[in-house]
Amino acid sequence: MGRRLIKILAVLAVLAMIMGACQTDDPSVETEEPEAAPSFEPGSYMAELQERGKIVIGVKYDVPQFGFLNPATNQPEGFDVDLGNLVGEALGVDVEFVEAISANRIPFLTEDKVDLIISTMTINEERKQQIDFSIVYYVAQQRLLVRKDGNIKSVSDLNSQKGTVCSAKGSTSEKNIRIAAPDANVVLQDGYSQCFQLLQNRQADAVTTDDVILVGLLKNDPDQFQIAGEPFSKEPYGMGIKKGREGFKEFVDGVISEAKSDGTWVVLYNKWVQPVTGESATPPPDDVEAEAPAPPA
Ligand code: GLU
Repeated sequence: MGRRLIKILAVLAVLAMIMGACQTDDPSVETEEPEAAPSFEPGSYMAELQERGKIVIGVKYDVPQFGFLNPATNQPEGFDVDLGNLVGEALGVDVEFVEAISANRIPFLTEDKVDLIISTMTINEERKQQIDFSIVYYVAQQRLLVRKDGNIKSVSDLNSQKGTVCSAKGSTSEKNIRIAAPDANVVLQDGYSQCFQLLQNRQADAVTTDDVILVGLLKNDPDQFQIAGEPFSKEPYGMGIKKGREGFKEFVDGVISEAKSDGTWVVLYNKWVQPVTGESATPPPDDVEAEAPAPPA
């Protein structure tokens, strides 16, 4: 092939590429359009959030796997955080996360400090008097975390030996353990990471809360600690919403429903929970009732 011919072919190839790139009105050519922001009924809470351009979501900062402030990135991460990002995406707004510990979840909503709580929060009748909840997005069960070399291996040991057990202020875990082990000495902290420190320092014999929180703490030191005894409550998690937010519960329910049905829930479960439980799971039903423990026989 002569040099001239090669040059002509090269020029034609470049021209063809340029023309191809310009032909955007051809319906057979896929073009990248920026996604249009979803539109919401004027007066709805979603429209208000869109106007503001941001949603503020309260999550845990000390619960590995659900809401944990990664010290390397200074960003919260976990199952609850990823669900919060899904809500933000569906609204087409930025997400600002703030720390919500067990005791301030409801006040943060009622005092308008946050728009949404996604903080390992159990849906129960008492809380429903004060706030609304989404459909269920996870179901946990309360258990104990103990030292391997200790004498307490069950809730009944904790009760009969009048052991010291740590839980978080304002949690269902605190209430449940007082029912299940009324003779135990209950000490309260703001969060479960502080309880774990008490256990490590031998100032507590056990930490009690939801199994998924305990397995996250256990991964810090599985040689010395273990989950003990049988589960003794049922804790269906929901997102907390202030009452009177027009349309917002239905919207949030839609985001959770879609994540449950399109495979996103399983992806998030496998990312955050499966590595610490070793178990596979499917999305929970939308309406699981909380169950408190029975008093000792
Ligand atoms: N799920 C329980 C609750 O909502 C215990 C975990 C927690 O305190 O976040 O109170």
